[in-house]
Amino acid sequence: MHRTVASASRQQPRIERCLSRQELNDRAVVTLDEHTPIRYYIRSADLLFNQAKIYRLEEDNQTSYQLYMRYCNLVIGQLPKHPESKYPEHKSALIRLKNNGLLAMNEIERLRPILDRRYEEYKERLRQYREQQEAAERAASKRAQEEADEQAALKLARREEEYWASQMPQQEWSLAKALEGVPGVKASNSSSVHQHQHHAHQHPHQHHHHHHHSSLQTPLLPDVQYPQHMPHPLNAPAYAIPQPGVAKVAPPKALPPPLPKKPDIPKAAPAVSHRLLDEDIPAYEEGLRTLIVPIRLLDRFLNLVRPNTVKNLETCGILAGTLARNKFTVTTLIIPKQTATSDTCSTTNEDELFEFQMERDLMTLGWIHTHPTQTCFMSSVDLHTHCSYQLMLPEAIAIVCAPKHEKDYGVFRLTDPPGLQVITNCREKALFHQHPGQDNIYMDAADQGHVAFKDLELEIVDLRNK
Ligand SMILES: [Zn+2]
Ligand SMILES: [Zn+2]
Repeated sequence: MHRTVASASRQQPRIERCLSRQELNDRAVVTLDEHTPIRYYIRSADLLFNQAKIYRLEEDNQTSYQLYMRYCNLVIGQLPKHPESKYPEHKSALIRLKNNGLLAMNEIERLRPILDRRYEEYKERLRQYREQQEAAERAASKRAQEEADEQAALKLARREEEYWASQMPQQEWSLAKALEGVPGVKASNSSSVHQHQHHAHQHPHQHHHHHHHSSLQTPLLPDVQYPQHMPHPLNAPAYAIPQPGVAKVAPPKALPPPLPKKPDIPKAAPAVSHRLLDEDIPAYEEGLRTLIVPIRLLDRFLNLVRPNTVKNLETCGILAGTLARNKFTVTTLIIPKQTATSDTCSTTNEDELFEFQMERDLMTLGWIHTHPTQTCFMSSVDLHTHCSYQLMLPEAIAIVCAPKHEKDYGVFRLTDPPGLQVITNCREKALFHQHPGQDNIYMDAADQGHVAFKDLELEIVDLRNK
C-alpha cells in the first residue's frame, strides 16, 4: 500500500523550473570593467543578441528574454559609461548595437506577458504538486499508524501465549476431568489425554500451550480488544490429540501468528522533494552549456600550421560555430591574419575576422594555438588573451597544442571564480608574469568540463593569404 504511494511520488512528472521575471532580471545584470577594451564588450553584445535570436526561434522564451535583457543592460545601461565609448572608431559598432537594442526591447515587451503567464502556471503546478506530496505524506503516516496497530496486536498475541503457558497444567487437568463421563468419549480417548498430560510434564510448556488452548475453546484474555485482522487463536486449527505410542515424538511446536510482511517504507514520511524541482533549472542557468568539438580539429590544425611550427613560431586559430538546442558546436576553424614569435601570437586584422563571422553567422567559441617548443599549459599571456574570450562567452575554450611534448594538447578555461576575476583585475604590465593563487586560475574543460569531442565535419578557412 505504502510502497505504491512512495514510488508514485518518485515517478511524478518533473516540474520544469520556471523563473519569475524578477529572477530573470536579476540574472541579467551586467557589470562593466573599464580596463577591458570596449571591443570585447561590443563582441559580447553581438554574441548575446545572436544567442537571444536563436533561443527565440527555438521558443525558449525564458532564456531568450534573459539574453535580451542582458543585451539591453550592457548596450544601453553600461557601454555608454565605458571610457572608449566616445572614440570615433567605435561609433558605427555602437550605432548597430543601439539599433539592435530597440529590437531587443520590443522582444522584451512581447515576452513579458508570456513569461508572467507561464510563471503563474508554474506556481499552480507547484501548488498541485505540493498538495499531492502532502496527501502522500498523510497516507504514509496512516500506514505507519496501521503498522503500529499491527505491532500492538502481535504483542497482545504474545501476552496471550504467555498467559496460556502459565494456565496450562490446570487446564490440562480440567480437560481430563471434562472428558470424564462425556457420552461417546471412550476410555481410550481419556487415557490418551492422560498419556499426553504425562508427556507434557516432561517438556517445556511453551511447546504445548497452543495445542491446549486451541482444543479447549477457553475464552481469551478479558478486557482486550482484538484487532479484526489478527488471526484469532480460537480459529486456529486444533492439533489432533496424540495417540498412544506417538506420544514420545515431540509435539508440533506452537507457531506464533505469522508476522505481517513489513512493507519497505522509510521511517519518516517523505518530505516534499525540493531537489526534484531544482534539478530542472535550464542548463543556461545551472552552468555551462555543452560545447562540441570535432575530433579532427587537432590533427588538421597541426598539419595546416606545421610550416610555422618547424620554424619555431606559434600559430593561432579561431574556433567558430553555432548554437542550437542549448549546445554549441565548433563547425569552422578560422586562421586569421597574425604575427607570431616562439611564445606569442596575435591577430592583426580583427575587423576582417569579425566581418567574416558576421556574414556566416558564426559565433566565436574559443581559440586554438601551438606551443612549438614549450609544454602544454596556459602562459600568463594566454590567460589574458583567453580572459577576453571567456568574458564574451562563458563557455569559450582555449586549446593548446604542444606537438613536441608527450601530453600534446589541452582544453582549458579560466576558473570562475577565481581565475576569471584574478585575470580581469590583473594590471601587471610585464608580458609574462605571475598570478596569485596560480594553481587555481585555469582548469581542464574537457575531462571534467563542458567540452565533448565528436566525429563531426570541420570547415577550415585560412584568412592569412587573402
Ligand atoms: Zn600559449
Ligand atoms: Zn596577469
